[in-house]
Amino acid sequence: MRKRILLLTTGGTIASTPTAEGLAPGMDGQDLARRLPFLTDRYTVTVRDILHLDSSNIQPEEWQIIARHVFDSREEYDGIVITHGTDTMAYTASVLSFLLPGIRIPVVLTGAQLPIDHPLTDALENLRLAFAMAATGQAGVFLAFDRRVLLGCRAVKTRTKDFNAFESVNWPPVGVVDAEGLHLDAAALPPEPTAPCALRDCLCKDVFLIKLTPGLNPEIFDMLLQMHYRGVVIEAFGAGGLHFIRRDLIAKLHKAAQAGMTVVVCSQCLYESSDFTLYQAGQKALAQGVIQGYDMTTEAAVTKLMWVLGQTGEQEVIREYFSRSLAGELAVRPG
Ligand code: ASP
Repeated sequence: MRKRILLLTTGGTIASTPTAEGLAPGMDGQDLARRLPFLTDRYTVTVRDILHLDSSNIQPEEWQIIARHVFDSREEYDGIVITHGTDTMAYTASVLSFLLPGIRIPVVLTGAQLPIDHPLTDALENLRLAFAMAATGQAGVFLAFDRRVLLGCRAVKTRTKDFNAFESVNWPPVGVVDAEGLHLDAAALPPEPTAPCALRDCLCKDVFLIKLTPGLNPEIFDMLLQMHYRGVVIEAFGAGGLHFIRRDLIAKLHKAAQAGMTVVVCSQCLYESSDFTLYQAGQKALAQGVIQGYDMTTEAAVTKLMWVLGQTGEQEVIREYFSRSLAGELAVRPG
C-alpha cells in the first residue's frame, strides 16, 4: 500500500523566490508539489501550508502551531514531512522532540540551501530523502539533509552555504543514503515510545542564552533578573569554566539561584561533553546549583529549558527532567 505522507510547509529558502529585498518565501505547498512528480507518484501526498516564513521569524508561537498540526494529523498519516528554512531548523527539530512526547510516526524536517526553482537546487534531493524517511515508520523527530538523516535534537546548522549544512553533534546520524538506498542505524534511533503521544506545548519564552566571553560583566545577571528571565543557558569555556576573579560570575549564579532562576551550563565547544567537576572554575559553579548540559547541543539545551520551565516551576522536578534524556538529546550519564 502506498504510504500516506503529509507535507506541511512553513517557508524557507526551499520555497523562496527573488524579490527586490532578496529571497523571500513566495511559493506555497502546491507550487512545491507540482515540482515533485517523482514523490506524488510514489506516495499519497497531502499538502498543507501552515506558515510562509523565513525561519528567522519562526519563534515559540510558530513551534506551537507546527506541533499542533503534527499532533492533530498523526493518526491519519504514515509520516509527516515539514519544509522549513534551514537557519532555525535545528531549534524547531529539537523543540518538536519535546513538544510531542511519544510521537509514533516519523516527523521529518527538511529544506534547502538553494530555492527549488534554482537549476542546481538541493531541494529535490532533500525532499526525496525526507519522504523516504517519513515512509519508514520509524517513530521520532528527524532532520533530513544532504543524504543524511539526523536525530532532530542532535542537529546543528554548521555551514551557511555548503549543501552539507547540518551536523549531528555528539551522536551518529540515524540514516545515510548510498547506492543501496537509505540505511538506518538501529543504535542511533530514538527509543520506541512507550507512553501514548501527547501534545505538551506549554513553553516558557523567558530563556536567555549567554555565550561566555573572557571578562563578561556579571551584571548581565541583574539585568536578566530585572527582565524576569526564568532560565539561562550558559555556553561556558572548555569542559566547564567561568571566571570568578575580578568579575565574579559565581556570586551572580548564587543570586540567580536564590531568585529561582534555572541556570544550565554547557560547553561552548561544539563537540563532546561538559564536565564541570574537572576544574575549580567549574566546581564553584556546580556548588551554586547549576545544571550541567553535558553533551546536549545548545539548541537542545535552550529548547529543553523552555519546555521544562513550561511544565513546572519546581527546582527538583526541573533537575529531574535534566537528569535524563527525553528524546535522545542526552547520552552522557550525569555522574
Ligand atoms: N533564511 C532562510 C531560512 O531560514 C535560509 C534557508 O532556508 O536556507 O528561512
